[in-house]
Amino acid sequence: MTKTAGFRTPAFVSSLPYVGERVYAAAIYCSDGRIGDHVDDFLHHGLNLPRYDRVAVPGGPVALSGRFQAFWDSRGVEEQLRFLAQVHDVKTVVLIAHGNCAYYLRRLGIAPDCVEAEQREDLHKATGAVHRLMSAATVRRYMAQIHGSEVRFEAAGP
Ligand SMILES: [Zn+2]
Repeated sequence: MTKTAGFRTPAFVSSLPYVGERVYAAAIYCSDGRIGDHVDDFLHHGLNLPRYDRVAVPGGPVALSGRFQAFWDSRGVEEQLRFLAQVHDVKTVVLIAHGNCAYYLRRLGIAPDCVEAEQREDLHKATGAVHRLMSAATVRRYMAQIHGSEVRFEAAGP
């Protein structure tokens, strides 16, 4: 048996209070850990959606774009959305694509100059997919653009 680091570490207690109230919103965004805190900041303070439900998967909304390469990813995300709609009563879905996304660059092999246009098209298609799953949902879509050390969230279409 091997000992793992931190085996005897005492329990960590978060200094953040637990609030049980839901905001009935979910965000679908890329699991890239370099933008996770910024997405939280945007949802919490930019959109005033504390405690939103998170659907973080590689590429984010691309999973609902209908792309053949994202077929298996789409199954999981669709299931998560159905669950959140039925059990958490989610009524607002926020879709966020981000600059320098490895899913587009590496998995889909899209040239850097073309990624943003492809992401905007995928956000549009993903909006339709959300509406097919949750006909009454309000969908808001954004591009997270990276400028140096700054991450700027801009609305992508109405
Ligand atoms: Zn990404």
